[in-house]
Amino acid sequence: MASLHPNTLTAHELLEKLKNKEISALDIVNFVFEKIKKTDPNLRAYARLDAGLKDGQIMGKEGILKGLPISIKDNICTEGYNTECCSRILDGFKPPYDATVIRKLKEAGATILNIKTNMDEFAFGSSTENSCFGPTRNPWNLDCVPGGSSGGSAAAVAADEAIFALGSDTGGSIRQPASYCGVVGFKPTYGRVSRYGLIAFASSLDQIGPITKDVLDSAVLMNVICGYDPLDSTSVNIKVPDYTKSLVKDIKGLRIGIPKEYFIEGMDPEIKKITDEAVNQLKDLGAVCKPISLAHTEYAVPVYYVLATAEASSNLARFDGVQYGLRAENSAVMIDKRKSETDNKLIRMYKATRGKGFGEEAKRRIILGTFGLSHGYYDAYYLRALKVRTLIKQDFDQIFKEFDCIAAPTTPTPAFKIGERSQDPLSMYLSDIYTISANLAGLPAISIPCGLTKDGLPAGLQILAKPFSEEIIFRAAYTYEQNTPWHLQKPKI
Ligand code: GLN
Repeated sequence: MASLHPNTLTAHELLEKLKNKEISALDIVNFVFEKIKKTDPNLRAYARLDAGLKDGQIMGKEGILKGLPISIKDNICTEGYNTECCSRILDGFKPPYDATVIRKLKEAGATILNIKTNMDEFAFGSSTENSCFGPTRNPWNLDCVPGGSSGGSAAAVAADEAIFALGSDTGGSIRQPASYCGVVGFKPTYGRVSRYGLIAFASSLDQIGPITKDVLDSAVLMNVICGYDPLDSTSVNIKVPDYTKSLVKDIKGLRIGIPKEYFIEGMDPEIKKITDEAVNQLKDLGAVCKPISLAHTEYAVPVYYVLATAEASSNLARFDGVQYGLRAENSAVMIDKRKSETDNKLIRMYKATRGKGFGEEAKRRIILGTFGLSHGYYDAYYLRALKVRTLIKQDFDQIFKEFDCIAAPTTPTPAFKIGERSQDPLSMYLSDIYTISANLAGLPAISIPCGLTKDGLPAGLQILAKPFSEEIIFRAAYTYEQNTPWHLQKPKI
Protein backbone atom coordinates (compact mmCIF):
# COMPACT_ATOMS: atom_id res chain seq x y z
CA MET A 1 0.00 0.00 0.00
CA ALA A 2 1.44 3.37 -0.97
CA SER A 3 2.01 5.92 1.77
CA LEU A 4 0.49 8.76 -0.24
CA HIS A 5 -3.21 8.48 -0.90
CA PRO A 6 -3.26 7.16 -4.46
CA ASN A 7 -6.44 9.04 -5.37
CA THR A 8 -4.48 12.30 -5.05
CA LEU A 9 -1.96 11.29 -7.72
CA THR A 10 -2.10 11.82 -11.47
CA ALA A 11 -2.73 8.98 -13.90
CA HIS A 12 0.87 8.97 -15.11
CA GLU A 13 2.19 8.83 -11.53
CA LEU A 14 -0.11 5.91 -10.78
CA LEU A 15 0.91 4.08 -13.96
CA GLU A 16 4.51 4.31 -12.77
CA LYS A 17 3.56 2.90 -9.35
CA LEU A 18 1.53 0.11 -10.93
CA LYS A 19 4.47 -0.79 -13.13
CA ASN A 20 6.78 -0.96 -10.13
CA LYS A 21 4.17 -2.99 -8.23
CA GLU A 22 4.10 -0.39 -5.45
CA ILE A 23 0.33 -0.37 -5.65
CA SER A 24 -2.52 -2.48 -7.02
CA ALA A 25 -5.47 -1.55 -9.22
CA LEU A 26 -7.78 -2.54 -6.38
CA ASP A 27 -6.04 -0.11 -3.97
CA ILE A 28 -6.59 2.73 -6.41
CA VAL A 29 -10.29 2.04 -6.91
CA ASN A 30 -10.79 1.59 -3.17
CA PHE A 31 -9.12 4.89 -2.36
CA VAL A 32 -11.21 6.68 -4.98
CA PHE A 33 -14.41 5.15 -3.58
CA GLU A 34 -13.36 6.01 0.00
CA LYS A 35 -12.81 9.62 -0.99
CA ILE A 36 -16.14 9.72 -2.83
CA LYS A 37 -17.94 8.33 0.23
CA LYS A 38 -16.28 10.94 2.41
CA THR A 39 -16.64 14.10 0.37
CA ASP A 40 -19.31 13.56 -2.23
CA PRO A 41 -22.30 13.95 0.08
CA ASN A 42 -21.22 17.64 0.23
CA LEU A 43 -19.83 18.00 -3.27
CA ARG A 44 -22.24 15.97 -5.43
CA ALA A 45 -19.78 15.49 -8.24
CA TYR A 46 -21.48 12.18 -9.03
CA ALA A 47 -25.07 11.79 -10.14
CA ARG A 48 -26.38 8.65 -8.45
CA LEU A 49 -24.08 7.95 -5.59
CA ASP A 50 -25.85 5.04 -3.90
CA ALA A 51 -26.51 3.25 -7.14
CA GLY A 52 -22.87 2.83 -7.96
CA LEU A 53 -20.69 2.15 -5.01
CA LYS A 54 -21.83 -1.45 -4.68
CA ASP A 55 -20.04 -3.04 -7.61
CA GLY A 56 -16.95 -1.23 -8.77
CA GLN A 57 -15.26 -3.71 -11.05
CA ILE A 58 -11.70 -3.75 -12.23
CA MET A 59 -10.92 -4.28 -15.90
CA GLY A 60 -8.48 -7.05 -16.56
CA LYS A 61 -7.49 -6.06 -20.09
CA GLU A 62 -3.87 -5.32 -20.89
CA GLY A 63 -3.34 -1.81 -22.19
CA ILE A 64 -1.69 1.47 -21.44
CA LEU A 65 -4.36 2.47 -18.90
CA LYS A 66 -4.55 -0.91 -17.18
CA GLY A 67 -5.40 -0.51 -13.51
CA LEU A 68 -6.78 3.03 -13.69
CA PRO A 69 -10.40 3.97 -12.94
CA ILE A 70 -11.94 6.75 -15.02
CA SER A 71 -15.06 8.83 -14.29
CA ILE A 72 -17.51 9.48 -17.11
CA LYS A 73 -20.00 12.29 -17.66
CA ASP A 74 -23.63 11.17 -17.54
CA ASN A 75 -24.20 11.87 -21.27
CA ILE A 76 -21.69 9.30 -22.58
CA CYS A 77 -23.20 5.83 -23.10
CA THR A 78 -21.77 3.06 -20.91
CA GLU A 79 -23.26 -0.35 -21.57
CA GLY A 80 -25.41 -1.53 -18.68
CA TYR A 81 -24.72 1.53 -16.46
CA ASN A 82 -27.21 4.34 -15.97
CA THR A 83 -26.69 7.11 -18.55
CA GLU A 84 -29.34 9.71 -17.87
CA CYS A 85 -27.94 13.12 -18.88
CA CYS A 86 -29.03 14.11 -15.36
CA SER A 87 -32.56 14.41 -16.73
CA ARG A 88 -35.74 12.87 -15.36
CA ILE A 89 -36.73 11.96 -18.90
CA LEU A 90 -33.91 9.39 -19.07
CA ASP A 91 -34.71 7.97 -15.65
CA GLY A 92 -33.23 4.50 -15.38
CA PHE A 93 -31.88 4.40 -18.94
CA LYS A 94 -29.12 1.82 -19.31
CA PRO A 95 -27.63 1.89 -22.83
CA PRO A 96 -27.32 -1.47 -24.59
CA TYR A 97 -23.95 -0.40 -26.05
CA ASP A 98 -20.77 1.54 -25.25
CA ALA A 99 -19.86 4.87 -26.81
CA THR A 100 -16.76 4.55 -29.02
CA VAL A 101 -14.65 6.43 -26.43
CA ILE A 102 -15.72 3.92 -23.77
CA ARG A 103 -14.86 0.99 -26.01
CA LYS A 104 -11.43 2.53 -26.62
CA LEU A 105 -10.88 3.13 -22.90
CA LYS A 106 -11.81 -0.47 -22.12
CA GLU A 107 -9.48 -1.71 -24.84
CA ALA A 108 -6.74 0.34 -23.19
CA GLY A 109 -7.45 -1.46 -19.90
CA ALA A 110 -9.16 1.42 -18.04
CA THR A 111 -11.85 0.64 -15.48
CA ILE A 112 -15.05 2.55 -16.20
CA LEU A 113 -16.60 3.68 -12.92
CA ASN A 114 -20.21 2.64 -12.75
CA ILE A 115 -21.30 5.95 -11.24
CA LYS A 116 -21.49 8.83 -13.68
CA THR A 117 -20.50 12.42 -13.05
CA ASN A 118 -23.10 15.11 -12.49
CA MET A 119 -23.92 17.62 -15.24
CA ASP A 120 -26.44 20.21 -16.36
CA GLU A 121 -29.42 18.41 -17.86
CA PHE A 122 -28.48 17.41 -21.44
CA ALA A 123 -25.38 19.65 -21.04
CA PHE A 124 -27.53 22.79 -21.04
CA GLY A 125 -25.79 25.17 -18.69
CA SER A 126 -22.65 26.67 -17.23
CA SER A 127 -23.02 25.82 -13.56
CA THR A 128 -24.24 22.21 -13.09
CA GLU A 129 -27.25 23.67 -11.29
CA ASN A 130 -29.59 22.28 -13.98
CA SER A 131 -29.20 18.66 -12.89
CA CYS A 132 -32.21 16.65 -11.75
CA PHE A 133 -29.93 15.26 -9.01
CA GLY A 134 -29.20 18.71 -7.56
CA PRO A 135 -26.20 21.01 -8.06
CA THR A 136 -22.53 20.08 -7.80
CA ARG A 137 -20.47 22.41 -5.61
CA ASN A 138 -17.04 23.86 -6.25
CA PRO A 139 -14.36 22.06 -4.19
CA TRP A 140 -12.49 25.37 -3.69
CA ASN A 141 -15.54 27.01 -2.13
CA LEU A 142 -18.69 24.99 -1.52
CA ASP A 143 -20.87 28.10 -1.92
CA CYS A 144 -19.76 28.46 -5.54
CA VAL A 145 -20.66 26.58 -8.70
CA PRO A 146 -18.04 24.30 -10.30
CA GLY A 147 -18.96 25.58 -13.77
CA GLY A 148 -20.76 23.47 -16.30
CA SER A 149 -21.99 21.54 -17.92
CA SER A 150 -19.21 19.03 -17.10
CA GLY A 151 -19.08 20.41 -13.53
CA GLY A 152 -19.26 16.95 -11.96
CA SER A 153 -16.22 15.67 -13.88
CA ALA A 154 -14.18 18.82 -13.11
CA ALA A 155 -15.13 18.89 -9.41
CA ALA A 156 -14.41 15.14 -9.04
CA VAL A 157 -10.93 15.50 -10.54
CA ALA A 158 -10.15 18.65 -8.51
CA ALA A 159 -11.31 17.03 -5.25
CA ASP A 160 -9.41 13.76 -5.91
CA GLU A 161 -12.70 11.87 -6.18
CA ALA A 162 -11.46 10.82 -9.60
CA ILE A 163 -8.08 10.15 -11.17
CA PHE A 164 -9.21 11.59 -14.47
CA ALA A 165 -12.49 12.01 -16.32
CA LEU A 166 -14.28 12.58 -19.59
CA GLY A 167 -16.52 15.55 -20.26
CA SER A 168 -18.19 17.00 -23.33
CA ASP A 169 -17.88 20.51 -24.75
CA THR A 170 -20.50 22.15 -26.97
CA GLY A 171 -19.81 25.77 -26.05
CA GLY A 172 -17.23 25.49 -23.29
CA SER A 173 -18.48 22.71 -21.05
CA ILE A 174 -15.06 21.13 -20.58
CA ARG A 175 -12.91 24.27 -20.44
CA GLN A 176 -15.12 26.51 -18.31
CA PRO A 177 -15.57 24.02 -15.42
CA ALA A 178 -11.88 23.05 -15.69
CA SER A 179 -11.04 26.73 -15.24
CA TYR A 180 -13.41 27.18 -12.27
CA CYS A 181 -12.07 24.03 -10.58
CA GLY A 182 -8.34 24.52 -11.26
CA VAL A 183 -7.83 21.46 -13.49
CA VAL A 184 -6.91 20.81 -17.13
CA GLY A 185 -9.72 20.53 -19.71
CA PHE A 186 -9.19 19.81 -23.41
CA LYS A 187 -11.72 20.23 -26.21
CA PRO A 188 -10.31 18.44 -29.28
CA THR A 189 -10.82 19.54 -32.89
CA TYR A 190 -14.35 18.81 -34.16
CA GLY A 191 -14.12 15.35 -35.77
CA ARG A 192 -11.03 14.25 -33.84
CA VAL A 193 -12.92 12.19 -31.22
CA SER A 194 -15.90 10.03 -32.15
CA ARG A 195 -19.29 11.29 -30.98
CA TYR A 196 -20.82 7.83 -31.36
CA GLY A 197 -22.60 7.15 -28.07
CA LEU A 198 -22.46 10.76 -26.88
CA ILE A 199 -26.08 11.75 -26.32
CA ALA A 200 -26.37 14.66 -28.74
CA PHE A 201 -26.96 18.24 -27.64
CA ALA A 202 -25.87 20.20 -30.75
CA SER A 203 -24.30 17.75 -33.19
CA SER A 204 -22.28 20.32 -35.16
CA LEU A 205 -20.60 21.58 -31.98
CA ASP A 206 -20.31 18.65 -29.52
CA GLN A 207 -16.94 17.08 -28.74
CA ILE A 208 -15.83 14.68 -25.99
CA GLY A 209 -12.56 15.48 -24.22
CA PRO A 210 -10.42 14.81 -21.13
CA ILE A 211 -10.51 16.56 -17.75
CA THR A 212 -7.29 15.81 -15.87
CA LYS A 213 -4.94 16.93 -13.10
CA ASP A 214 -2.17 17.92 -15.49
CA VAL A 215 -1.24 18.31 -19.15
CA LEU A 216 0.61 14.99 -19.43
CA ASP A 217 -2.52 13.11 -18.32
CA SER A 218 -4.50 15.03 -20.92
CA ALA A 219 -2.12 13.88 -23.66
CA VAL A 220 -2.19 10.28 -22.39
CA LEU A 221 -5.99 10.24 -22.51
CA MET A 222 -6.16 11.96 -25.90
CA ASN A 223 -3.89 9.24 -27.31
CA VAL A 224 -6.54 6.70 -26.30
CA ILE A 225 -9.78 8.45 -27.27
CA CYS A 226 -8.85 10.18 -30.55
CA GLY A 227 -9.16 8.60 -33.97
CA TYR A 228 -11.36 7.89 -36.94
CA ASP A 229 -14.62 6.07 -36.35
CA PRO A 230 -16.85 4.91 -39.21
CA LEU A 231 -19.79 4.99 -36.78
CA ASP A 232 -19.60 8.80 -36.64
CA SER A 233 -20.08 10.40 -40.06
CA THR A 234 -18.35 13.61 -38.92
CA SER A 235 -15.29 11.76 -37.67
CA VAL A 236 -12.18 12.73 -39.64
CA ASN A 237 -9.69 10.19 -40.94
CA ILE A 238 -6.39 11.84 -40.06
CA LYS A 239 -3.64 9.92 -38.32
CA VAL A 240 -3.46 10.51 -34.56
CA PRO A 241 0.04 11.49 -33.45
CA ASP A 242 1.49 10.45 -30.09
CA TYR A 243 0.57 13.59 -28.14
CA THR A 244 2.99 12.83 -25.32
CA LYS A 245 5.78 13.49 -27.85
CA SER A 246 4.67 17.15 -28.08
CA LEU A 247 5.33 17.67 -24.40
CA VAL A 248 8.61 19.49 -24.78
CA LYS A 249 9.45 22.37 -22.48
CA ASP A 250 10.20 24.83 -25.24
CA ILE A 251 8.14 27.58 -26.82
CA LYS A 252 10.98 29.72 -28.14
CA GLY A 253 9.76 31.60 -31.17
CA LEU A 254 6.19 30.30 -30.90
CA ARG A 255 3.90 32.99 -32.34
CA ILE A 256 0.98 33.55 -29.97
CA GLY A 257 -1.90 35.94 -30.73
CA ILE A 258 -3.68 37.71 -27.85
CA PRO A 259 -7.21 38.69 -28.98
CA LYS A 260 -8.09 42.20 -27.88
CA GLU A 261 -11.83 41.43 -28.00
CA TYR A 262 -11.35 39.00 -25.10
CA PHE A 263 -10.36 41.76 -22.69
CA ILE A 264 -13.73 43.42 -22.45
CA GLU A 265 -15.37 45.81 -20.09
CA GLY A 266 -17.09 43.91 -17.32
CA MET A 267 -14.30 41.38 -17.16
CA ASP A 268 -13.23 40.69 -13.58
CA PRO A 269 -10.10 42.83 -12.88
CA GLU A 270 -8.38 39.98 -11.05
CA ILE A 271 -8.91 37.63 -13.99
CA LYS A 272 -7.50 40.31 -16.29
CA LYS A 273 -4.43 40.69 -14.07
CA ILE A 274 -3.88 36.94 -13.82
CA THR A 275 -4.18 36.54 -17.61
CA ASP A 276 -1.77 39.44 -18.24
CA GLU A 277 0.74 37.78 -15.94
CA ALA A 278 0.32 34.46 -17.75
CA VAL A 279 0.97 36.16 -21.10
CA ASN A 280 4.09 37.82 -19.67
CA GLN A 281 5.28 34.43 -18.49
CA LEU A 282 4.78 33.01 -21.99
CA LYS A 283 6.90 35.90 -23.31
CA ASP A 284 9.60 35.23 -20.70
CA LEU A 285 9.67 31.64 -21.89
CA GLY A 286 10.48 32.82 -25.39
CA ALA A 287 7.10 33.04 -27.13
CA VAL A 288 6.38 35.99 -29.39
CA CYS A 289 3.05 37.35 -28.12
CA LYS A 290 1.27 40.00 -30.16
CA PRO A 291 -2.19 41.55 -29.99
CA ILE A 292 -4.65 40.33 -32.61
CA SER A 293 -8.25 41.08 -33.50
CA LEU A 294 -11.07 38.55 -33.90
CA ALA A 295 -13.59 41.05 -35.19
CA HIS A 296 -16.75 38.96 -35.00
CA THR A 297 -16.26 37.80 -31.40
CA GLU A 298 -19.24 39.82 -30.15
CA TYR A 299 -21.60 37.70 -32.27
CA ALA A 300 -20.39 34.35 -30.93
CA VAL A 301 -22.86 34.09 -28.05
CA PRO A 302 -26.00 35.06 -30.03
CA VAL A 303 -24.99 32.87 -32.99
CA TYR A 304 -24.34 29.97 -30.65
CA TYR A 305 -27.70 30.26 -28.91
CA VAL A 306 -29.57 30.28 -32.23
CA LEU A 307 -27.68 27.28 -33.63
CA ALA A 308 -27.26 25.24 -30.44
CA THR A 309 -30.93 25.54 -29.46
CA ALA A 310 -32.07 24.73 -33.02
CA GLU A 311 -29.99 21.55 -33.04
CA ALA A 312 -31.00 20.69 -29.48
CA SER A 313 -34.72 21.03 -30.23
CA SER A 314 -34.34 18.56 -33.05
CA ASN A 315 -32.06 16.15 -31.14
CA LEU A 316 -34.41 16.06 -28.16
CA ALA A 317 -37.43 15.13 -30.27
CA ARG A 318 -36.58 11.45 -29.78
CA PHE A 319 -37.33 11.57 -26.05
CA ASP A 320 -41.04 10.94 -26.10
CA GLY A 321 -41.62 8.12 -23.64
CA VAL A 322 -41.58 5.39 -26.29
CA GLN A 323 -38.00 4.15 -26.38
CA TYR A 324 -36.05 5.58 -23.47
CA GLY A 325 -36.41 6.22 -19.76
CA LEU A 326 -39.51 7.85 -18.36
CA ARG A 327 -43.06 7.21 -19.58
CA ALA A 328 -45.86 9.24 -18.04
CA GLU A 329 -49.37 8.12 -18.95
CA ASN A 330 -51.71 10.69 -17.55
CA SER A 331 -52.03 14.25 -18.60
CA ALA A 332 -54.80 16.76 -18.65
CA VAL A 333 -54.27 17.48 -22.34
CA MET A 334 -57.53 18.30 -24.19
CA ILE A 335 -58.93 15.55 -26.37
CA ASP A 336 -58.90 16.39 -30.07
CA LYS A 337 -62.22 15.07 -31.37
CA ARG A 338 -60.94 14.91 -34.96
CA LYS A 339 -58.40 12.29 -33.94
CA SER A 340 -58.89 8.64 -33.07
CA GLU A 341 -58.87 7.49 -29.46
CA THR A 342 -55.50 5.78 -29.97
CA ASP A 343 -53.96 8.95 -31.42
CA ASN A 344 -55.29 10.98 -28.55
CA LYS A 345 -53.87 8.53 -26.04
CA LEU A 346 -50.46 8.60 -27.72
CA ILE A 347 -50.33 12.38 -27.85
CA ARG A 348 -51.34 12.57 -24.20
CA MET A 349 -48.50 10.20 -23.34
CA TYR A 350 -45.94 12.26 -25.35
CA LYS A 351 -47.02 15.48 -23.72
CA ALA A 352 -47.16 14.08 -20.20
CA THR A 353 -43.71 12.48 -20.57
CA ARG A 354 -42.04 15.57 -22.00
CA GLY A 355 -43.85 17.83 -19.56
CA LYS A 356 -42.69 15.85 -16.54
CA GLY A 357 -39.38 14.66 -17.92
CA PHE A 358 -37.66 17.85 -19.06
CA GLY A 359 -36.44 20.54 -16.68
CA GLU A 360 -36.94 24.26 -17.11
CA GLU A 361 -33.79 24.99 -19.12
CA ALA A 362 -34.40 22.07 -21.49
CA LYS A 363 -37.92 23.35 -22.15
CA ARG A 364 -36.62 26.88 -22.69
CA ARG A 365 -34.16 25.59 -25.30
CA ILE A 366 -36.70 23.40 -27.09
CA ILE A 367 -39.02 26.39 -27.42
CA LEU A 368 -36.24 28.75 -28.56
CA GLY A 369 -34.83 26.25 -31.03
CA THR A 370 -38.20 25.32 -32.50
CA PHE A 371 -38.98 29.00 -32.95
CA GLY A 372 -35.67 29.68 -34.74
CA LEU A 373 -36.31 26.81 -37.16
CA SER A 374 -39.95 27.56 -37.84
CA HIS A 375 -41.33 28.67 -41.18
CA GLY A 376 -40.99 32.42 -41.58
CA TYR A 377 -38.18 32.71 -39.02
CA TYR A 378 -35.70 30.19 -40.39
CA ASP A 379 -34.03 32.69 -42.77
CA ALA A 380 -33.94 35.48 -40.22
CA TYR A 381 -32.43 33.40 -37.42
CA TYR A 382 -31.02 29.98 -38.31
CA LEU A 383 -29.69 30.80 -41.78
CA ARG A 384 -28.29 34.15 -40.72
CA ALA A 385 -26.57 32.58 -37.72
CA LEU A 386 -24.94 30.01 -40.03
CA LYS A 387 -23.55 32.85 -42.15
CA VAL A 388 -22.11 34.68 -39.15
CA ARG A 389 -20.63 31.37 -37.96
CA THR A 390 -18.65 31.31 -41.22
CA LEU A 391 -17.39 34.86 -40.57
CA ILE A 392 -16.23 33.83 -37.09
CA LYS A 393 -14.38 30.87 -38.59
CA GLN A 394 -12.77 33.11 -41.22
CA ASP A 395 -11.42 35.44 -38.51
CA PHE A 396 -9.53 32.47 -37.09
CA ASP A 397 -8.35 31.22 -40.53
CA GLN A 398 -6.79 34.64 -41.14
CA ILE A 399 -5.03 34.73 -37.77
CA PHE A 400 -3.63 31.20 -38.10
CA LYS A 401 -1.85 32.23 -41.30
CA GLU A 402 0.46 34.30 -39.10
CA PHE A 403 0.18 32.76 -35.64
CA ASP A 404 0.74 29.27 -34.23
CA CYS A 405 -1.82 29.65 -31.47
CA ILE A 406 -3.97 32.05 -29.49
CA ALA A 407 -3.87 32.63 -25.72
CA ALA A 408 -6.77 34.14 -23.80
CA PRO A 409 -8.65 33.84 -20.52
CA THR A 410 -11.03 30.87 -20.35
CA THR A 411 -13.75 32.82 -18.55
CA PRO A 412 -14.44 36.51 -17.76
CA THR A 413 -14.93 35.87 -14.01
CA PRO A 414 -13.99 33.21 -11.47
CA ALA A 415 -16.64 30.75 -10.19
CA PHE A 416 -19.82 32.54 -9.13
CA LYS A 417 -22.10 31.78 -6.19
CA ILE A 418 -24.72 29.01 -6.41
CA GLY A 419 -28.06 30.59 -7.31
CA GLU A 420 -26.49 33.89 -8.44
CA ARG A 421 -27.25 33.49 -12.14
CA SER A 422 -29.88 30.74 -12.23
CA GLN A 423 -32.79 33.18 -12.41
CA ASP A 424 -31.12 35.20 -15.17
CA PRO A 425 -30.45 32.97 -18.20
CA LEU A 426 -28.76 35.78 -20.12
CA SER A 427 -26.07 36.38 -17.49
CA MET A 428 -25.57 32.60 -17.35
CA TYR A 429 -25.17 32.44 -21.15
CA LEU A 430 -22.41 35.07 -20.96
CA SER A 431 -20.21 32.78 -18.81
CA ASP A 432 -19.10 31.09 -22.05
CA ILE A 433 -18.26 34.22 -23.99
CA TYR A 434 -14.59 33.19 -24.45
CA THR A 435 -15.11 29.49 -25.09
CA ILE A 436 -17.97 29.37 -27.62
CA SER A 437 -15.98 30.60 -30.65
CA ALA A 438 -13.76 27.51 -30.62
CA ASN A 439 -16.84 25.30 -31.01
CA LEU A 440 -18.33 27.46 -33.77
CA ALA A 441 -15.03 27.26 -35.67
CA GLY A 442 -14.35 23.59 -34.78
CA LEU A 443 -10.98 24.42 -33.19
CA PRO A 444 -9.07 22.53 -30.50
CA ALA A 445 -8.60 24.43 -27.20
CA ILE A 446 -7.31 23.73 -23.72
CA SER A 447 -7.83 25.39 -20.35
CA ILE A 448 -4.99 25.10 -17.83
CA PRO A 449 -4.75 26.53 -14.31
CA CYS A 450 -2.95 29.92 -14.31
CA GLY A 451 -3.58 31.49 -10.91
CA LEU A 452 -5.80 32.01 -7.90
CA THR A 453 -7.86 35.05 -6.99
CA LYS A 454 -7.59 36.73 -3.58
CA ASP A 455 -10.59 34.66 -2.52
CA GLY A 456 -8.73 31.53 -3.46
CA LEU A 457 -10.67 30.67 -6.62
CA PRO A 458 -8.82 29.26 -9.66
CA ALA A 459 -8.45 31.00 -13.02
CA GLY A 460 -7.80 29.31 -16.37
CA LEU A 461 -5.62 30.15 -19.34
CA GLN A 462 -7.06 29.08 -22.67
CA ILE A 463 -4.87 28.13 -25.63
CA LEU A 464 -6.44 27.61 -29.08
CA ALA A 465 -4.92 26.44 -32.36
CA LYS A 466 -6.05 25.60 -35.86
CA PRO A 467 -7.94 22.36 -36.55
CA PHE A 468 -5.88 19.21 -35.89
CA SER A 469 -3.04 21.21 -34.32
CA GLU A 470 -3.52 19.75 -30.86
CA GLU A 471 0.25 19.20 -30.70
CA ILE A 472 0.96 22.94 -30.65
CA ILE A 473 -1.51 23.38 -27.81
CA PHE A 474 0.11 20.59 -25.84
CA ARG A 475 3.57 22.06 -26.35
CA ALA A 476 2.54 25.55 -25.21
CA ALA A 477 0.41 24.28 -22.31
CA TYR A 478 3.08 21.89 -21.05
CA THR A 479 5.81 24.51 -21.19
CA TYR A 480 3.64 26.98 -19.25
CA GLU A 481 2.56 24.35 -16.72
CA GLN A 482 6.04 23.07 -16.02
CA ASN A 483 7.28 26.60 -15.35
CA THR A 484 4.46 27.61 -13.01
CA PRO A 485 3.11 26.21 -9.71
CA TRP A 486 -0.62 26.37 -10.49
CA HIS A 487 -1.31 22.75 -11.39
CA LEU A 488 0.09 21.68 -8.02
CA GLN A 489 -2.42 23.72 -5.97
CA LYS A 490 -5.24 21.68 -4.49
CA PRO A 491 -8.49 22.65 -2.78
CA LYS A 492 -8.76 21.71 0.89
CA ILE A 493 -11.65 19.31 0.82
N1 GLN B 1 -22.92 26.73 -21.29
C1 GLN B 1 -23.17 26.50 -22.68
C2 GLN B 1 -24.63 26.15 -22.83
O1 GLN B 1 -25.32 26.28 -21.90
C3 GLN B 1 -22.29 25.41 -23.18
C4 GLN B 1 -22.70 24.08 -22.72
C5 GLN B 1 -21.86 22.97 -23.27
O2 GLN B 1 -20.76 23.18 -23.76
N2 GLN B 1 -22.44 21.79 -23.23
O3 GLN B 1 -25.08 25.76 -23.86
